[in-house]
Amino acid sequence: MLGAWRELVETARRTNDAGLVVGTSGNVSVRVRDTVLVTPSGVPYERLHDDDLCAVDLEGRRVAGSLSPTSELPMHLAVYRHTAARAVVHTHAVHATAVSTLVGELPAVHYMTAELGGPVRVAPYATYGSDELAGHMLAALEGRNACLLQNHGTVAFGDGLGQAYDRTAQLEWMCQVWLAASSLPGRTPSLIPDDELARVKEKLKGYGQRRAPE
Ligand SMILES: [Zn+2]
Repeated sequence: MLGAWRELVETARRTNDAGLVVGTSGNVSVRVRDTVLVTPSGVPYERLHDDDLCAVDLEGRRVAGSLSPTSELPMHLAVYRHTAARAVVHTHAVHATAVSTLVGELPAVHYMTAELGGPVRVAPYATYGSDELAGHMLAALEGRNACLLQNHGTVAFGDGLGQAYDRTAQLEWMCQVWLAASSLPGRTPSLIPDDELARVKEKLKGYGQRRAPE
C-alpha cells in the first residue's frame, strides 16, 4: 500500500511540475483491490509524506489516514465503480479548461483522439465535488477514458498512474493544438474522420497503450 501511495504522490507532483495544475487544484487516485488511495484535500503535493496516506473504500468510507480526502472524491469513486480503471487523474490544465468553455466536444484534430477512445466530450458544468458533477462526468466518459469538465478541467483514467497521467498530458496537448489551429481568422481546422479514428484505435492496440507513437 505504501508503494502505491508513493507512486501516487510522485504522479501528483508530476501534474504540478508539468503545469497541469496550480497549487492543490487537481487530484490523483489509485485503486488497490477494493481500496482507493487518494490525494488529501488542500495539502500541497510537495508536503505529502508517507504518514499522510489517505485511503477510502469504494463507498468513500475512510480506511486509513487522518487527513480528509479530496473534495472531488465522488468523481474518482464513480470512475472506479463503473469502469476497470486502476488510476484517475483530475487537473485544471489551462488549454483543456479553456476548450471546455467553448465546445461540447473536442474536435478530432489529431489521431491520438483514438487513444482516448474517440472525440473527447465535455461534461456539462456542475458544482465541484457534487454527485451531479460525477454523474455528468460518467455520461461523458461513455466509451472513452478521458473527458473535459465544462468551466473546470480534465478527468482521465487508465490501467495505472502512468497511463492516467499520459492520457491527461495528451488531452491537454490536443486542446492546445485545437486552440492554436482554430485561432486563425477565417480558417477552420481539418479533422480526422471517424473511420480513420477506428483504424488508428486498432493499430494502437497492437502498439501498446502506454506510449505515443513517434
Ligand atoms: Zn477540480
